[in-house]
Amino acid sequence: MILQLKPSANSENIPELAAAHQAVFFKAADAFTFVLPFAVKEVPPALEPFTDKSWATDSDIQLASKQYKSNVREVKWGTTVIGGNTNHTVMIAGPCSVESEEQLEVTADLLKETGISNMRAGAFKPRTSPYTFQGLGTEGLKLLAKMRDKYGFGIVTEVRDATQVDEIIEYADVVQIGAKSMYDHGILRKCGKAKKPILLKRGFGATLQELVQCAEFILSGGNDQVMLCERGIRTFETKTRFTLDLCGASYLKQYTNLPVVLDPSHAMGYAYGVADLSRACVAMGIDGLLVEVHPNPKVAKSDASQQLDHPQFRDLMKTLSPVAEAVGRKIV
Ligand code: PEP
Ligand code: MN
Repeated sequence: MILQLKPSANSENIPELAAAHQAVFFKAADAFTFVLPFAVKEVPPALEPFTDKSWATDSDIQLASKQYKSNVREVKWGTTVIGGNTNHTVMIAGPCSVESEEQLEVTADLLKETGISNMRAGAFKPRTSPYTFQGLGTEGLKLLAKMRDKYGFGIVTEVRDATQVDEIIEYADVVQIGAKSMYDHGILRKCGKAKKPILLKRGFGATLQELVQCAEFILSGGNDQVMLCERGIRTFETKTRFTLDLCGASYLKQYTNLPVVLDPSHAMGYAYGVADLSRACVAMGIDGLLVEVHPNPKVAKSDASQQLDHPQFRDLMKTLSPVAEAVGRKIV
């Protein structure tokens, strides 16, 4: 159960009050919010005098639930607004990894040409093997920040461990928590205290419930700027890298209040399927689409097989707007 306390409750001993009711609490604007176990269905009498509003929820999906907020939250950075009533599908595109300044410059030209204002690329790569390219680290972040300063892009980049959250926040606009880090409680808690939007990717072996519960760690830390990203789950199928869970995306749209971003690149694992899947995602009326694109995918230092080259990306972009329009949306 979620309780929004009255500002007058601020003079109480909040940590003690919360502990007595097994509540997690945070302060937003000038009032505290308490999140009690979902089994609690009525405001406990001792909290009644302090409670302004309350919401009963039917699972541990609480702050992320439609029962709490019936509209999708608006998440904002720079000039980008995602979710809410925007009816936008926000494009987030760029290479898997930052490899060089030249690579980012060429990518920047492509994004400008295709009207995209958010660039993605990883500087800290959580690779499957320790013997492959692990990312340029801080140098990569600085190159991304350079693109932001020069062209005004919003920058989306991933965090590999909790010690990097502060550094990433300094250089980026959106902190991406990768599929392999979805369960990293150090990262989740640190992002809960961050003042920047968080893009939380679904672990490829995680259920929807588990994904949203991880989002709850961030939300209950006091950060209300969270987006969920479906990027493919592991199934019995081996012909594609993962299986993009569009049913899951529908579930997230129906039952959560968080903007939903889909990532067909990591799901498919092969460039040939990315355009078809992207159109399917846009046709679903999702809030954001993340696509990997590289000036020369053959020599990419990570995820070479799935990145579109620039002509493929241009062709894809031409086909997305009519699909978006057909479902009352706009690609931005
Ligand atoms: C990525 O976005 O480049 C990435 C590593 O994605 P995921 O965490 O979904 O594998
Ligand atoms: Mn990648």
